[in-house]
Amino acid sequence: MDVVAVFLFMVQMPPLFPLVVSHFHSSEYAGKMEVYAGVEQDCFSTEPTDIYDYVIGSTHYVYKDGLYHTVDESEEKTNAIVREFFGGDFLKYAAAYFEAEAQVVAKTKPDIIGHFDLISKFNERNKYFDMDEKAYRFLALEAMEELLGTGVPFEINTGAMYRGLRTEPYPSYGLLKELQKRGGEIVLSSDSHDCNSIGFAFGEVAQACREFGFRYTKIWTPEGMKEIPLD
Ligand SMILES: [Zn+2]
Repeated sequence: MDVVAVFLFMVQMPPLFPLVVSHFHSSEYAGKMEVYAGVEQDCFSTEPTDIYDYVIGSTHYVYKDGLYHTVDESEEKTNAIVREFFGGDFLKYAAAYFEAEAQVVAKTKPDIIGHFDLISKFNERNKYFDMDEKAYRFLALEAMEELLGTGVPFEINTGAMYRGLRTEPYPSYGLLKELQKRGGEIVLSSDSHDCNSIGFAFGEVAQACREFGFRYTKIWTPEGMKEIPLD
């Protein structure tokens, strides 16, 4: 029988980690399913990550006026934050986000860079800012360049597509093209919070990646990251 590998990740719930893994090891799936537990470590978190098998490093907050402001909680919350702390200027908000994102590898030492442009979550059809505009792209690409230097692959995350918020993954297709040109590597991920979302839109996203010139996606293994052809 084939052994299936399952990748779990948790947002800062260390006490649950040994419980979940030991449950699988003693269950009917023992010997049939490999379970690896990782953590999505926020850029601003200082919690230790040593007990996890792998780490996804992500930015969920912008830091302004001594406070951490959530990026992905809701459209209303994002609007209120931009209005109250960035004078209504989404570009200034983007600058604060990508300033943090540029440091996500240095801060979290991840195996994978999570949802690079989470800031686009509520911006379908450029509702609040133009993602093709030069000034926005400059901020995003500056952070991308910084992260490319670390050699850590970028997650292609279809979570917002599954939730009906976006028609493109993180990073957006415009940024993915730039990532490919600059030699960046990718890991397909659905950021699943339920069973139905596992692998959501992987077909269309993999096809887009092939068209942009990507030849493989990486996967995490206990022996290190491995390449899987996209063809
Ligand atoms: Zn996240």
